[in-house]
Amino acid sequence: MSPTSPLTSTPTTTDVLVLGADLAGAGPANLLIRDGVFADPADARPDAVRVDAYGLVALPGLVDLHTHLREPGREDAETVTTGTAAAARGGYTAVLAMANTSPVTDTAEAAEHLLDVGRATGTAQVVPIGAVSKGLAGEELAELGLMARSPAQTRVFSDDGRCVADARLMRRALEYVRAFDGVIAQHAQDPRLAGPDACCDEGPVSGRLGLPGWPAVAEAGIVARDVGLAELTRSRLHVCHVSTAETVDVLRWAKARGIAVTAEVTPHHLLLTVDELLGYDPTFKVNPPLRSAEDVAAVREALTDGTIDVVATDHAPHARHDKEHAFVDAAPGMLGLETALAVVVETMVRPGTLGWREVATRMSSVPAHIARLGGQGRPLAVGEPANLTLVDPTRRATVDRAASVSLSRNNPWHGRDLPDPVVATWWAGRATYGR
Ligand SMILES: [Zn+2]
Repeated sequence: MSPTSPLTSTPTTTDVLVLGADLAGAGPANLLIRDGVFADPADARPDAVRVDAYGLVALPGLVDLHTHLREPGREDAETVTTGTAAAARGGYTAVLAMANTSPVTDTAEAAEHLLDVGRATGTAQVVPIGAVSKGLAGEELAELGLMARSPAQTRVFSDDGRCVADARLMRRALEYVRAFDGVIAQHAQDPRLAGPDACCDEGPVSGRLGLPGWPAVAEAGIVARDVGLAELTRSRLHVCHVSTAETVDVLRWAKARGIAVTAEVTPHHLLLTVDELLGYDPTFKVNPPLRSAEDVAAVREALTDGTIDVVATDHAPHARHDKEHAFVDAAPGMLGLETALAVVVETMVRPGTLGWREVATRMSSVPAHIARLGGQGRPLAVGEPANLTLVDPTRRATVDRAASVSLSRNNPWHGRDLPDPVVATWWAGRATYGR
């Protein structure tokens, strides 16, 4: 088509002019979305679509470091299509997809395949996480270098769901990823202290319910070992879903020592306690388990002072038939993408502990930086990718699991009154959610 053709000379604008949103706590301003990036609002064409955002908060699109998409292998629980729809509904523009699919993402081909599926069917950027070990077996390193050099450009590696228990293998993995600035994301669970049947915080509740206990030291002990290995190898460690006060203490010590360690907390560990298990509802079975009120207070404090760097969902959809078992036999995991920001608003923003700038940091820019994603977690500024989430800071609703866009229904917030913050999401200038 020539530049003078009617179709290009007529301004068929896709300009979206967002008016008056509070830019992550920096005060109200206008934003112009054009051709996938933020442009100068003063240049908006007269026929721009105008979005009234007065009273709303604008956040950079959220980035989830810890999502289980279940594709390939368990498309009855979630697919890239439904998982990224849930992500967009929750204000996310990128998700890092855990490797424990079937087959496991432990080769360059598998990572590239997921990247392609994400590009074809996703409503958020899908970033494959590579396995640390072949088949998650914890014995031999997976194709870390090939995955890093593949089009997927994998930088995060994790056997999540399983701990890399062998200290020597963990050391080798940390040494290996250093060459390309990768990071090992560890599911910290000493299998000799908290085996596969461990499903309840070890304490008074596990004793009362007769459920196999998962002691706090099984997490903190592995984290203590791993920060030592990160120091030895001068490599990057990321600790998944921190759940205990003891782990927070280890992280605080390691960070003071200058070790390259980052950590995440899930929304459910910020709000729910082990007391949820008193009804034996498998919806509340998660790994690591829900902990005590003291642990909840400790992880909140750690998120506030930066000892815990980010909030990550551990979105873990499960088909009904995998959850509808006796508590000990049910699959562990909870939905998280659609409600993560709601829980952070409830636990951290409303009490005045975190401001919107910190929310942007802990749910967008720092997760993007940990994963070395250049096009995500960027400031809301001219020339940057138009990844944007509009938030209503006052709206609340009763969570209804039937209304979820996820394929699964294992929603721990069902029936609970929570903030309902996400109004609209744009990913690279494309509207991916709006109500
Ligand atoms: Zn995990």
